[in-house]
Amino acid sequence: MTEEILPAFTELALAPALHRVIAEIGYETPSPIQAQSIPPLLAGRDLLGQAQTGTGKTAAFALPLLTRLDLALVRPQILVLTPTRELALQVAEAMQTYARHLPGFHVLPVYGGQNMGQQLRQLERGVHAVVGTPGRIQDHLRRGTLKLDRLTCVVLDEADEMLRMGFVDEVEAILEQTPPTRQTALFSATMPKEVLNVARRHLKDPVEIRIKTKTATVAAITQRYWQVKGLHKLDALTRILEAEEIEAMLIFVRTKIETVELAEKLEARGFTCAALNGDMTQALREKAIERLKNGSLDIVIATDVAARGLDVPRISHVINYDIPYDTESYVHRIGRTGRAGRPGQAILFVAPRERRMLNAIEQATRQPITPMTLPSRKDIANRRISLFKEQIAEAMEAQDLEFFEELIDSYQSEYDVGLRRIAATLAYLVQKERPLQPAEAFAEEVVTPEVERAVPRAPRRESSKTPEIGLTTYRVEVGRSHGVEPKHLVGAISNEANISSRGIGYIKIHDDYCLVDLPDDLPQQTIRHLQSVWVCGRRLLLSAVGKGGGEKPGKGGSFVKDGAKRPFKPGAKKPFPARGAKKGS
Ligand code: ADP
Ligand code: MG
Repeated sequence: MTEEILPAFTELALAPALHRVIAEIGYETPSPIQAQSIPPLLAGRDLLGQAQTGTGKTAAFALPLLTRLDLALVRPQILVLTPTRELALQVAEAMQTYARHLPGFHVLPVYGGQNMGQQLRQLERGVHAVVGTPGRIQDHLRRGTLKLDRLTCVVLDEADEMLRMGFVDEVEAILEQTPPTRQTALFSATMPKEVLNVARRHLKDPVEIRIKTKTATVAAITQRYWQVKGLHKLDALTRILEAEEIEAMLIFVRTKIETVELAEKLEARGFTCAALNGDMTQALREKAIERLKNGSLDIVIATDVAARGLDVPRISHVINYDIPYDTESYVHRIGRTGRAGRPGQAILFVAPRERRMLNAIEQATRQPITPMTLPSRKDIANRRISLFKEQIAEAMEAQDLEFFEELIDSYQSEYDVGLRRIAATLAYLVQKERPLQPAEAFAEEVVTPEVERAVPRAPRRESSKTPEIGLTTYRVEVGRSHGVEPKHLVGAISNEANISSRGIGYIKIHDDYCLVDLPDDLPQQTIRHLQSVWVCGRRLLLSAVGKGGGEKPGKGGSFVKDGAKRPFKPGAKKPFPARGAKKGS
């Protein structure tokens, strides 16, 4: 916490309706930026505020501006400019929440890619506040569909980012079209020259506020690093995913492509996850964030830009899978956890040649980052075993097992074996795809070239002669000599045939050809299409060679596969939770 004593919210002259919301939401004290910004903004002063993300800037401007708002005048009075659509939505949502007890209050988020007609209708119906990206706001101003003549306040949120994204002309043009009497607040995590120039030109005698990097938010985050050695980063990540108490995790990588590739690899290992990057459509990104918020998704792999400003209090872990380019983005990244007063965990993967960046980060944040050792195979095994026991207990408690008890009775009398042996066999079947003793699988993942396969599977059992139900083996006419790798095939087939990479089974690479297990029920049309698809300069010329012999496609890390998918007791619920590897699921 900061040393200075912060005033209570009740000491701030905010509208009673806002005090009520603050109490309802459960904010105890204003954050430092709020304590320092609210009084001057209430007094109508301009403001230049420097504070990192996660310090509570939204309420710092929203609460005083909502207090000063004339609710009876249904015209845009507040305009907030944000660098991205996500932030526009987030800020609009937060303002709507803070204004919960201001009857009839309307805030409209406005951003590119959103249906223009809908925006126009809402603008016509009347709004008190508009939150948007500079480009789309400019559009509306040009068309005359947004009128700023009654505007009393402009907020430039995350100004450094806005300018970095090239919005300087739009921002200036917009400011020029607002009444000269308006109040202006500018917030920025950093204060480069460009931001100061805009401030100099458009702010009148501003109150200047600077909140140091070391905020309570950052202090609530435990920072660790893992020195990359011995294991691949993917294996390290998998162990962390299995061993830590995780509510939700945000994983940072450097490129958009890597978000997708890592997501595929994690899915192949049974973790449900999603990529978040700038190439995705707005709708897809919003969907992923919504799922992360509501708990139907726990792992997101993102780039810096896509995750900027993301505010999901569930995020308990931030993993810097790839080290950030600078200390500032490190602070932004880890600021996605430890939100809203919750504790957060940040883990940084550091390759030997990245040690200097680690030192720089420690210096910049003036906080220690402690080395961590990865959980051992034994730790993982212990955790899997205890989760397994929990699952048994839960199912025993929650399920009607009569049908199964009778089944076991009849099995026992038919085959004359002990209950212990039957139970052990069933336990074996249940854990087959995610073995409770992961020793061999782990060793193999580390040392064999198979690691690089896009779809790593549990080691294949040579003895398994029985063909797997659900898969057919196909031959494709591209092989090792053409430079093909499993990821090429997975990429091409999943894209062209529109099957998820999880639907693709075992891949065996030969010199001139490959064998690939694909779902039995591929439509003829898809098969024909795949025949003409090119991979590594060769046409696949896909042909069926028989029943799939490889591993079945995994799903969601479940201990149970067949049972979960095809209950043999008609109408039975899923006998086991869908995600065996996760706590509380
Ligand atoms: P910033 O814009 O600086 O990144 P936000 O306004 O998005 O920060 O706030 C970050 C998080 O902190 C949000 O989840 C918000 O609800 C929470 N928050 C804001 N002010 C307070 C407060 N006074 N007490 C507790 N939580 C707060
Ligand atoms: Mg913000």
